[in-house]
This record gives sequence, C-alpha cells and structure tokens, in this order.
Amino acid sequence: MLELVNLNKSFGDKQVLRGIDLRVPPGQVVSLIGASGSGKSTLLRCVNYLEQPDPGSAVLIDGMQIGGDDPRHGSARQLRQQRSEIGMVFQHFNLFPNMTALDNVCEGPLAHRRGTRAEIREMALHLLDRVGLAERADHYPSQLSGGQQQRVAIARSLAMKPKLMLFDEVTSALDPELVDEVLKVMRELAQGGMTMICVTHEMAFAEDVGDRVIFMADGRILEDGPPSKVIRNPEHDRTRAFLARAL
Ligand code: ATP
Ligand code: MG
Repeated sequence: MLELVNLNKSFGDKQVLRGIDLRVPPGQVVSLIGASGSGKSTLLRCVNYLEQPDPGSAVLIDGMQIGGDDPRHGSARQLRQQRSEIGMVFQHFNLFPNMTALDNVCEGPLAHRRGTRAEIREMALHLLDRVGLAERADHYPSQLSGGQQQRVAIARSLAMKPKLMLFDEVTSALDPELVDEVLKVMRELAQGGMTMICVTHEMAFAEDVGDRVIFMADGRILEDGPPSKVIRNPEHDRTRAFLARAL
C-alpha cells in the first residue's frame, strides 16, 4: 500500500505540489493525467525520493515512511532499500548504454546481492522473455529500437521485484508504431496484479488499463475516480477542457 499524506513540494518559492493525499492499495493501477506543468512527474519523483518533499509531507510504503521522519538523519542504507522496492521507468535514459540488455537487467540485483550470478542471470533471461526480448539479450541499447529499449527498462525495474511501479510517459518519445508493444507489456503487468502509477497521455490506455484515473491541476488532485467517471463524465470544467484536447 502506497500512501501520500499532505505531500507538498516547492522549488524555491514556487509550490509545485499542494497538499496531495493519496492511498493506492496493492494491485491498483492508477492513471495520472493532467496538463504540462501540473506536477505529475514531481509527484512520481517524490514517491521514490528523487525529490525530497517539503517538511510535513509523508510518503509511506506499507506503513513505513520513506526517508524517515527527517531524511537528513535517516540512514542512506534504509533509503536505498526502500527505493529498491519502487521501480521507475522514464521517457528517456533508462539504460546503461555500455551494457547489453541482459547486463542492464542483472545490474540492480547484482548490486543489491539478491542472489548468485547464475540465479540472477536466469531470472533476467526470464524477464527479457516476458517482455518479448529473449532474442535480444546480448544487444546493446544502441542496437535496439526505442520500444525494445523501453521494454528492457521495464524488465530492468522488475528485476528488483518492486512492490510498486511508476511510469512517467514511457511511450511519449516513441515512434507511433512502437507505442503498442510497450503498452502491451504494461497491460500484462497490470493484469498480473502489479501496483502501478502511470503518467500517460494515452487516454485509451488510461481508460482501459487504469482502475482509477486521477486528474491533476496546479499541483492538486482535482478529480479522482473510475475511468468511466473521470474520462467519460468528468465533474470539473478543467478536466473537460483537458480531455477535449487530449482525446
Ligand atoms: P509534463 O506533462 O510537461 O511532463 P508535469 O505535470 O510532469 O508536466 P512537472 O515536471 O512535475 O510537471 O513540473 C511541475 C512544475 O514544477 C513545472 O512548473 C516545472 O517547471 C517545475 N519544476 C519541476 N522540476 C523542477 C526543478 N527541479 N526545479 C525547478 N522547478 C521545477
Ligand atoms: Mg512530466
């Protein structure tokens, strides 16, 4: 269970997140939508402490606060452990360019000593197979298409056996014909029971894969409910205006 309590985040005097409260139960798939600059990426980045939330905010995973009460005093080791429970895939720059697909997937579990080299390699090959890339294990990122790279990036995150996966517009930079192969992997992951927050501009995906759609505006959650409600029958004018442009 992920819980955000009064999550605030400012950059200088600019407040980007304003008192976000959110509970995501295990297995739930949340589609996070909203205009550019509304704070979607900042929210995801606060969840795994790539950004440090403002004082008074709390991010909890299974009741454990990430970063501790005061991250300056919390142990770096604990934060590293908590971060390893959260997978994140971005739009770009997910893979080490100097490592093969297989080595990219093995890197995290090796660094965290999650098993023997042989065990980790076997698990990684299984994950590459799951994302349809068994044949590409020995390819370097530059030898893979954007869609293949994103699928390796997903496998790489899964190798850490995360409790939660965060996706930030992972298909936005892809050629249109490569989008579906990545969404298919995400859809299978959702069906397998993974807890996910997906920032996406793909409204069809948000609607049919999300159990829940959240619309953000100006650092707040403006609308939150089932896709049939938020996307098909929104309450707020701002949601309607956004959807009119996005659909
Ligand atoms: P997009 O759809 O364009 O990705 P978003 O909803 O993900 O937008 P964020 O990237 O979270 O929006 O940014 C929200 C606001 O915070 C923007 O005004 C942005 O300029 C600002 N911001 C984000 N990161 C920083 C930073 N490191 N320093 C200063 N301002 C930042
Ligand atoms: Mg963003």
